[in-house]
Amino acid sequence: MLIRRLYSGARPLCLCSCPHSHSLRVLRAVPTITSPTSHSSQWSPSPCHSRSHFSVDATLTSSAMGPSASPYFCLKDYDCVGFDLDNTLLKYNIANMVKLSYELLARFLVEQKGYDPCHLLKPLNLDFLQKGLTMDYEKGNVLQLSPDGSIHRACHGTKLLLDADIEEIYGKDKVYPLAQEYTQNMLDAWNGPISEKIRSVMDHFDVSAALAFARCVDNIDAKSENPPADYNLYNDITDGLINMYQRDNFANNTGGFFSALKENPDKYLHRCSSNVRKWLEKLKSDKKVFLVTGSNEDFASFTAKYCFGEDWKDLFDVVVFFARKPGFFTGRRPFISLVDGKESDIVQPEDVQLGKMYSQGNWQDLYELFKKETNKKFPKCVYVGDNVLQDVFAPDEFTRCDAVAISDEMRAEGVGDAKEYIDVLSSNTWGSYFYQKEDNPSLWCDIIRRHAAICVPSVDVLAERPLDFQIQTFKSISPDPSQPIGFFPSAPTK
Ligand SMILES: [Mg+2]
Repeated sequence: MLIRRLYSGARPLCLCSCPHSHSLRVLRAVPTITSPTSHSSQWSPSPCHSRSHFSVDATLTSSAMGPSASPYFCLKDYDCVGFDLDNTLLKYNIANMVKLSYELLARFLVEQKGYDPCHLLKPLNLDFLQKGLTMDYEKGNVLQLSPDGSIHRACHGTKLLLDADIEEIYGKDKVYPLAQEYTQNMLDAWNGPISEKIRSVMDHFDVSAALAFARCVDNIDAKSENPPADYNLYNDITDGLINMYQRDNFANNTGGFFSALKENPDKYLHRCSSNVRKWLEKLKSDKKVFLVTGSNEDFASFTAKYCFGEDWKDLFDVVVFFARKPGFFTGRRPFISLVDGKESDIVQPEDVQLGKMYSQGNWQDLYELFKKETNKKFPKCVYVGDNVLQDVFAPDEFTRCDAVAISDEMRAEGVGDAKEYIDVLSSNTWGSYFYQKEDNPSLWCDIIRRHAAICVPSVDVLAERPLDFQIQTFKSISPDPSQPIGFFPSAPTK
């Protein structure tokens, strides 16, 4: 299998699985990649589907964790403030980006895997897309899951299923045992055989994969009167995503995605507002500001330069590329030095320094650096990012670092006036990203509420306010249960 070829010697694990169970505080030893060369030719991009590896290091102890349960979030309280890049500090034109990623994936499935263009090359149906959808590779269904792993809504291929259909397939309780295992214990689930059975799309890079998958199912069904026992689409979809996002593609102009961005950045990227830039400068004058991105050095430097300007590196005290989150927060992969943008030597933990840029690495060593530089035993850190699994769950669950969730879906559900990209962010097919029946939270809303201090639609919301501005966290108790707090400036409309 391709993944095994890519990451020889390590169990392939998809990082697009977002555990929400607090039982995961019991750490489990799983294989850890230690060789920087075993995968150096591949890219584990911000597109979260790439095969980063969950690896929980046994040296992490509960004393190293313990996210704050403060009822107020205030940036002024933090010693170190960290950011994800893609879809957090760096905003994309997500309409153009999602269209590009769908078209490249669909074309790959037609040309390399033999699917029928009549199904795959139909115009992009934005209404079918929603972050967090889970592909049941075996049954050919796209699932919208609830926190307990039950199925709230589902499609077979692109056809919406009635509740009775879901009950017929998954049983009266609409519970797919694999999905239940996945939501209750995603690290183990993703480390085992079911990792090739179900997978969620987690951000704008891979969200279109659910539609490509569904259309492949339609294609298979159209060819046969009897549906197959196992649609077995894992390899085809995964190969397509790797073909698009592997890290050598940027340098080699292969795969289509990076070359399109290089050729026409104005079509896909937005420049940082002067307000956000000033806010970052202000933050850096008072705190350690760090960037931890899944993107490889060449792609991230290209996009960051476009977003912030030539001097973008000056905005950060330390930059980590190809961080392979969530493994960055859970494991002990070493930092790798960069020479002319290329990975070079392993950097010993005590040699990690401010003012440098690295590839890979891990939170524990970075935190040791922050301890040294702040002269504090437990400097207070926060990480801001859009990927619920990589940027919110992982730091909160496995480190002392707090998390701020960026969710632009809030804008599609009544927060703020900006209506940009609403057609990408909202879906009649799937309904609310945050809420399900009787206003119960969706799986992803539940994880955000459990693991983020606050959730905002974009960093601009924070940048518009002074650093000592206080926001009530999800840990606060709302006097009005119908108005949950933690979402800011307001909660998504139910
Ligand atoms: Mg991101």
